[in-house]
Amino acid sequence: SSEQFASLARDHIRAIEDWPEPGVTFRDITPLLADPAGLAGTVDALAGIAATWGPIDKVVGIEARGFVLAPPVAMRLGAGFVPVRKAGKLPAAVESRTYDLEYGSATVEIHRDAIVTGERVLVLDDVLATGGTLSAARDLVTGLGGRVVGQLVLVELAPLGGRARLGTQTPTAALVTY
Ligand code: AMP
Repeated sequence: SSEQFASLARDHIRAIEDWPEPGVTFRDITPLLADPAGLAGTVDALAGIAATWGPIDKVVGIEARGFVLAPPVAMRLGAGFVPVRKAGKLPAAVESRTYDLEYGSATVEIHRDAIVTGERVLVLDDVLATGGTLSAARDLVTGLGGRVVGQLVLVELAPLGGRARLGTQTPTAALVTY
């Protein structure tokens, strides 16, 4: 069941205190992905939630851990995979979006021709923290004429308020919430 999987996932997501900097508790999903049942269950559970949002043409995965999750989920959904990358990595014409981090800012990019107007798009990442990354990715997709049907993550860090930042216009879901 999804509750049994959520409990398995919780047991295999490792907390690393004070990484990458003091005060941050990093949620490391690599032990979950290294476990055969964890990996299969993660992909099944993510695809299962996404399927409730209707047909999906493209799954956008965000560098770097979104790249691990998005392709198998896209294959389950019969969708294509589109990368959103950090600035300067994508070779063809891009759209960019810069957003504020706690210290400084970050820029993410998407290939301009990766989304066709009217396509139904799922945006996927490993962790929802403040929501800055997912909202930037969503803005890139909508800027290209795509319709974001949902934002999906493996882990939501609820105290950081990402869900509120993303708003309620499109659904947001997480497999595990801390
Ligand atoms: P945010 O833009 O604040 O929602 O941060 C989300 C991005 O930062 C995701 O791509 C995550 O991989 C990463 N991230 C932020 N906080 C954490 C954390 N505590 N543990 C693991 N990854 C995190």
